[in-house]
Amino acid sequence: MQHYDLIVIGGGSGGVRAARISAGHGAKVAICEEFRYGGTCVIRGCVPKKMMVYAAHYHEDFHDSQFYGWDVSVNGFDWSTLIRNKDTEIDRLNGIYENLLKNAGVEILHGSGQFIDANTIQVGEQEISADKILIATGGTPFMPAIPGIEYAISSNEIFHLEQQPMSAIVVGGGYIAVEFAGILNGMNSDTHLIYRGEQILRGFDDEVAKHLQEEIVKKGIDLRTDTNVTAIELTSEGRRKVTLTDGTLLEVDCVLFATGRAPNTGDLNLGAAGVELGAKGEIRVNKESQTNIEHIFAVGDVTDRIALTPVATMEGHAFADTVFGNKPRLADHSNVPSAVFSQPPVGSVGLSESEARNHYGEVDTYTSSFRVLKHTITDNTERTMMKLVVDATSNKVVGAHMVGPDAAEIMQGIAIAIKAGATKADFDATVGIHPSTAEEFCTMRNKD
Ligand code: NDP
Repeated sequence: MQHYDLIVIGGGSGGVRAARISAGHGAKVAICEEFRYGGTCVIRGCVPKKMMVYAAHYHEDFHDSQFYGWDVSVNGFDWSTLIRNKDTEIDRLNGIYENLLKNAGVEILHGSGQFIDANTIQVGEQEISADKILIATGGTPFMPAIPGIEYAISSNEIFHLEQQPMSAIVVGGGYIAVEFAGILNGMNSDTHLIYRGEQILRGFDDEVAKHLQEEIVKKGIDLRTDTNVTAIELTSEGRRKVTLTDGTLLEVDCVLFATGRAPNTGDLNLGAAGVELGAKGEIRVNKESQTNIEHIFAVGDVTDRIALTPVATMEGHAFADTVFGNKPRLADHSNVPSAVFSQPPVGSVGLSESEARNHYGEVDTYTSSFRVLKHTITDNTERTMMKLVVDATSNKVVGAHMVGPDAAEIMQGIAIAIKAGATKADFDATVGIHPSTAEEFCTMRNKD
């Protein structure tokens, strides 16, 4: 039996980073992956999704361009061209991930990993053992058990549909639901977004969620809040007849459930190793990403900390540096910025207003809502909003939020300032770049 210093189970962002860096520190490493190297983000998540967001946004751009003098005739949108080109790029990235591992000297195995005992893993027919094991198996879409759920798809399947669904129901109000509702609506599919709560993006700043909700409705998404799907039937024409909680029936080509993701531990046979799970089925870890078994670690979505790719890579890198690099350090989960690639997108870092009030007590907020320069000579009514949340005692900016074009790009820079502990006075003292949307973050003088 081959013996390693480290076996990594799962070839997504966190696992690949940990394997590569550990090998760089001199460890003998094997990694196994049951699907394709790259993980959810690269293969069926962030990367292909962002391509679909770009595709969808052209619709609005073509329309707006006429106000800038362009005479454009749009003759349609070809879903299969997009899917084909997207697949080519994903294949390329998949190859890059495997090459990164190969070049780092990591042994690459194809197949799912299963514990035989606390040091031995079965991958296909092979049994391998290691001193240390890292679990980085990510998450898997959660689909509620309603009648006819087998006629719905998850985000795993949407990337491979052969035809564009010309009408669709998207269920959920989180990241994936609002992103795909925007994508399908932008591609001219008749799009219904069904959310069980009152306001989408629960957990985000209230005003941000409210603003986005208004904007997506303006763009034509049929948003139904306080509503859920109770049953789905397949019609003789192969369409989906969907019953909602208020008794409404809708018939569509596709039903996409984006109702959260669950830690992917089902096939690991964790019992054989004695690894404990938390209440949501996540692998419980301490700050060092160590499980209850001293030599078994876990990073990324499977630990249900912050389910974002850059967080998984941060955790994987910190693990490798600590365990094999003689450079002990902890992953820092504070002030992690994120973006929702809705249309318009949302960017956010730090605390929402209500979180800040709970944490700091006295809080000042600064909010601005306006039409960006680009839209002033078009008939595009999209409004951008920006918000700063400031701890009144220390003057520190503890939250920054935006809904509007380029929110992700803008918020990355703002996140650096907030991570560095910038105060509102620092924001005010920074000269804006004119004309830009981002400069508004430096010119918000009046408290709400
Ligand atoms: P989220 O947790 O963001 O949202 C799940 C949504 O589904 C919520 O609105 C929730 O409602 C709703 N929901 C849950 N259960 C049910 C049910 N039984 N019936 C109806 N609705 C239900 O999960 P996502 O699947 O959107 O994304 C998973 C994670 O992946 C995200 O949290 C994020 O960390 C990550 N991600 C990040 C992206 C990015 O960075 N741009 C993009 C995509 C995903 P309620 O609010 O009432 O709980």
